[in-house]
Amino acid sequence: IIYLDNNATTAMHEDVIEAVHQSNMLYGNASSMHMAGRQAALAIEQSRQALASLIDEESSSIVFTSGASEANNTVFNIFKERIDLGSKRNRIVTTTIEHPSIIETVKYLRQLGYNVDECPVDSTGRVKMDVMNKLLGDDVALVSVMLGNNEIGTIQPVAEIARLAHQTGAFMHTDATQAIGKIPVSMRELGVDYLSLSAHKFYGPKGVGALVVKAKAPYAPLVHGGHQEGGKRAGTYNTASIVGMGVAASIAQRDLDMERKKLWKLREMLRVGILERISNVVVNGNQEHCLPGTLDVSFPHAEGESILLYLDMEGIMVSTGSACASGSLEPSYVLLASGVDIELAHGSIRFSFGRYNTEQDVAYVLEKLPPIIKRLREMSTR
Ligand code: PLP
Repeated sequence: IIYLDNNATTAMHEDVIEAVHQSNMLYGNASSMHMAGRQAALAIEQSRQALASLIDEESSSIVFTSGASEANNTVFNIFKERIDLGSKRNRIVTTTIEHPSIIETVKYLRQLGYNVDECPVDSTGRVKMDVMNKLLGDDVALVSVMLGNNEIGTIQPVAEIARLAHQTGAFMHTDATQAIGKIPVSMRELGVDYLSLSAHKFYGPKGVGALVVKAKAPYAPLVHGGHQEGGKRAGTYNTASIVGMGVAASIAQRDLDMERKKLWKLREMLRVGILERISNVVVNGNQEHCLPGTLDVSFPHAEGESILLYLDMEGIMVSTGSACASGSLEPSYVLLASGVDIELAHGSIRFSFGRYNTEQDVAYVLEKLPPIIKRLREMSTR
């Protein structure tokens, strides 16, 4: 089986599985004062340190969440509340290619009457900086721009946007979910006030992540209740998953350089191989500012879903940018926002590499993919 869908989720690292297993024995409620509680709390604090070290930030800035969707929602909720309270800064600026946990939150906020602008991107998926500059102003409360795109891998100039946002007095958020463990992510160097991440994208458990919040940045909890996380996020600690995320963070930090080089090498092997073997293909995204393991390719005259299913029959797992929503196959909104033709957007496939992939995997894909595209193209012209 060849798993090339690591941007959707990754397999847990064996050390993470072991750590989760062991910490399931730490049954005490981490908020309890007795020994069982203190043992769980200690393990959680060690994970907080490991995660903080990975992103070059104070451990006190970390708020554990159920993942990046919750972290992203929390950030937008903070500013929704501030605007409700009559803040003069009542506009939010984001982009057209954010993850659905932001795109859908923006739709919801607009329905409620909030003022949100989505900055367009160029044909490679990079934010149009001239438009961003125009959108920024002294009425902007929050700017939210993802670091690496989940579908096409394009990396945004987040540090530069953060600097501009701060000049106008706005706060800056980045969804770094896809970048963690793949490229160096330093919260300090990015200069952002908020950062979202999710453990299962870097070989940690699913259902756990974090919102990282600078001490001076405004905050309002999304989940009210107990006093966990200093009142920032209520709910009994998910000890085992948090411990697993901490171990995954340490491994990600230790192996970053090696992983980054390996992912890029595999991605480039596949890209070059596809261009050599299959005519009329379009590589999407930005080839210079790109997550190392992401390769998104459009195959005109072949449907993305059909390619995915044929590859699946050969034991190769990939993804399409399109969402199978309510029975209708929608083309990728990320590609459409990048100005990609609707037919090309329908025929796109995302190959996303991870630490367990090998050169043999690439060779196998390069053997199986060309006849599949050929067959589908013949069918489509019949
Ligand atoms: N942001 C990005 C860029 C993602 O790729 C994902 C995962 O698909 C998320 C947010 C949401 O993460 P989760 O589903 O773990 O909440």
